[in-house]
Amino acid sequence: MKRERESLLRPPAFAYRWKGVRGRAPELPIEELYCERVALEQLAEQRGTPLYVYSAAMIRARLSAFGSAFRAIPHTLCYSVKANSTLAILRLVAGEGAGFDVVSGGELQRVLRVRRKSANKVVFSGVGKTAAEMELALRAGILLFNIESSSELQLLAATATRLKKRAAVAVRVNPDVSAKTHPYISTGLHQHKFGVPIPEAQALYAQAAKEPCLNVAGVSVHIGSQITDVATFREALARMVGLVRVLRVQGHDIRYIDAGGGLGISYEGTQQNFERQIAAYARAVLGPLRGMKLHLLLEPGRSIVGAAGVLLTRVLYRKTNHRKRFLIVDAAMNDLMRPSLYGAYHEIVPVSRASKETEITDVVGPICETGDFFARDRKLSLAKEGDLLAILDVGAYGAVLGSNYNTRGRAAEVLVDGAKAKVIRRRESVEDQLRMESRLS
Ligand SMILES: *Cc1c(COP(=O)(O)O)cnc(C)c1O
Repeated sequence: MKRERESLLRPPAFAYRWKGVRGRAPELPIEELYCERVALEQLAEQRGTPLYVYSAAMIRARLSAFGSAFRAIPHTLCYSVKANSTLAILRLVAGEGAGFDVVSGGELQRVLRVRRKSANKVVFSGVGKTAAEMELALRAGILLFNIESSSELQLLAATATRLKKRAAVAVRVNPDVSAKTHPYISTGLHQHKFGVPIPEAQALYAQAAKEPCLNVAGVSVHIGSQITDVATFREALARMVGLVRVLRVQGHDIRYIDAGGGLGISYEGTQQNFERQIAAYARAVLGPLRGMKLHLLLEPGRSIVGAAGVLLTRVLYRKTNHRKRFLIVDAAMNDLMRPSLYGAYHEIVPVSRASKETEITDVVGPICETGDFFARDRKLSLAKEGDLLAILDVGAYGAVLGSNYNTRGRAAEVLVDGAKAKVIRRRESVEDQLRMESRLS
């Protein structure tokens, strides 16, 4: 009975629930959007808008789906911190037994703050690691450094020698495969700054093997983000396995293969069944690894947290220029940059659904930039001033890309777990923003 009255928007986290009947005529059912057992309208009233809301159940479900899909071989899930680095999210992920992929010393410090013991499940990626960042990671005792150039390898060797530490290394290879994704988040072609071409990687392994403080441990690849064609992963992994064979013949003890992250989510329409999608991804990754006796590292970010978050925003004004309609909302590009930065599409839905009437409209923020938009010429349910909207699938690369442009404080973030809703980052005040600046005498 209850099932019939719930329409699942992003299972298992976001669903509409039937609430009541408005007036007598016309008798329209009012549906209300929930995150797990928390009504979002009420949450927005309590905590204000714009407000990021995440579902713990969805994050747990996705982590566990990864675990089952890859259970056939030894593996470690290293959640990509940059997708969503709020401490409470990291704590949730660590609690499920996952490790982390970090791309800066700051991200590593977040992980250490959450759980010191997780250090031995941390992979450090990135093209521009500084000596100070390497030192932090060496002292913490991380699992693996992904090295991207000969100069970086030299600096790591020097830093490890100075600290009398030993560093496990993999070379991040650029496999020269084309991922069909946005050019800003494709990373696996020779024209990109990332990784080392396969022929050059061999020289780096030879260089690393000569350094007593370096331990050649693996190979690594990450071809980009928001990749939905799993064949691309299979091709990249097949090339990596070819390299592992050559390296082993050369005497390197390759135990780890880091397959990176990058699995996409569907931002439009109904979500693909995640279990089915993760199974297809696992087949693509595991196929080339068969019989290789490698420990697999995975660095998913978006596929874990992307669909687990919404951004709640209120309609401030309705406005019509000539015949073009605008909904001006209280969230802006400083809260969610993906539409401006990548032209990303995010579904926008009303939190209370009372009417079937629709309109074609732009949804824009208050910032003084034409690029400050969330949707253009979008067919949406008719919304009044004061209505609450939910921008979907913003759990990854949402809050983390927030800024203070226009001296707007960053939005608050809430983590929902069942019937509990906890503020995990409070709203930033003007005082918070001014604290770093010198006063005029
Ligand atoms: C960004 C990044 C990831 C995560 O990518 P998703 O698309 O969020 O899964 C994993 N590994 C590295 C090295 C990255 O830079």
